[in-house]
Amino acid sequence: MATVYETVIGLEVHVELATETKMFCGCPTAFGAPPNTQVCPVCLGLPGSLPVPNARAIAYALKAALALECEIDPECRWDRKNYHYPDLPKGYQITQYARPLARSGHLRFSITETNGDTVDREVRIRRLHMEEDTGKSTHEGLPGTSTGVDLNRAGVPLIEIVSEPDIRTPEEARVYLQALRTLLLYTGVSDVKMEEGSLRCDANVSVRPVGEDTLGVLVEIKNMNSFRSVQRALEFEVNRQVDLLQSGGRIVRETRHWDDRREITFSSRSKEEAHDYRYFPEPDLGPCDLTPAFVEQTRQSLPELPTAKCQRYISLGLSGYDASVLAMDPPLASFFDAMLRAGGAPRESAALLTVELLGRLNATGIAIHDPACRVTPSALAELQKLVADGTINGKIAKEVLDEMVQTGATARTVVENRGLRQVSDEGAILEAVRSVLTANPVEVADYRDGKEKLFGFLVGQVMKATRGKANPALVNAVLRRELQGRSE
Ligand SMILES: [Zn+2]
Repeated sequence: MATVYETVIGLEVHVELATETKMFCGCPTAFGAPPNTQVCPVCLGLPGSLPVPNARAIAYALKAALALECEIDPECRWDRKNYHYPDLPKGYQITQYARPLARSGHLRFSITETNGDTVDREVRIRRLHMEEDTGKSTHEGLPGTSTGVDLNRAGVPLIEIVSEPDIRTPEEARVYLQALRTLLLYTGVSDVKMEEGSLRCDANVSVRPVGEDTLGVLVEIKNMNSFRSVQRALEFEVNRQVDLLQSGGRIVRETRHWDDRREITFSSRSKEEAHDYRYFPEPDLGPCDLTPAFVEQTRQSLPELPTAKCQRYISLGLSGYDASVLAMDPPLASFFDAMLRAGGAPRESAALLTVELLGRLNATGIAIHDPACRVTPSALAELQKLVADGTINGKIAKEVLDEMVQTGATARTVVENRGLRQVSDEGAILEAVRSVLTANPVEVADYRDGKEKLFGFLVGQVMKATRGKANPALVNAVLRRELQGRSE
């Protein structure tokens, strides 16, 4: 029998913190400036310069650690990680090694299975530490094979978040990363853009026979630049390892790079491998001194986080799936919360927002938080209330929303201007029903002979006669009564 393998994945995520200045100097951190225009003696590591920690960066890192439910080390220390590389003129990176800011956290998220069920997952966070970023090598605008170095990024504050090897599938790795991104977006400590490099992910992946306790040989995967490429790279790598083992080969402990174009991982020697970093305590910086009051104050400043938000939505009657879709998208969740504050009913508001409004916006490429989205939360809540109180029916509501999206008019204005109020006047409906029955004698006769499906056809005719405005429940009742009563 063929051996069945289990996948074991751990992720190391680097996140740039959204401070205006660097970790240990006052240089700006803005993305996209001309090369080497945001540098000073400190981030260039010139002799005699001294680092001064950025208090805001530490506060942001702490906020992220608390959002991940970590244990905080208030006296965490700085270390030097020594290696030589052109993008690191100092010859070392200031990081945290033996005493990181935080350990033992959790990230909770849910995965939607193919049958639509959602499954709750929890991945443990081994550690979260602060460090400074390195510079970047660049080839842009340079002759031949020359390489330039841009040190604008050198010294930008980072946090590194290391998970335990709790992830079991490539899909789960992608969802973990998306959940981490959402959590950090809520805390506001980073803009977490993978395409600009403010969120970067490396993976450790191994496979082992199911039932085996010890880990297989670890392979590190680098250069995954999107959520999709994380999943694709891991899928490729897991298949490669299983194929190799099944054909009698051995996995080599190595670093492999993901090639997004060819969709393969390939073996690569990198600066990470060959070195003993000779970590030692940073002599120019003392330990951090985070007071209990500061930690507590930071904890209090956290907003409602995705897991709590999701649970609140479920308690309001939303399905786990809908609750998760809303909670995992901060702009969408804030729109939905504003609808609730404006008095919208939870389930109906969620449907109007995620199905009707988003459907229309997606078709035109407009995001919900875009100023070009002309429908406000209170306007959408008003539309929901007009359906709930019977002013319009659900079908007309879609027509009203079309116009709201185009013109920005309120629901009530559209309804009044276009005379779309639902017809709930029984006399008017009876009149429409009778004329439909008179105009369709064959269908009426067939219905009475047992073709019950024709009832729907007749309802449709009445709705058409009232230009869609009739109260559907009333149409059903009157039509049924008339068909039973008039048996001539
Ligand atoms: Zn600087």
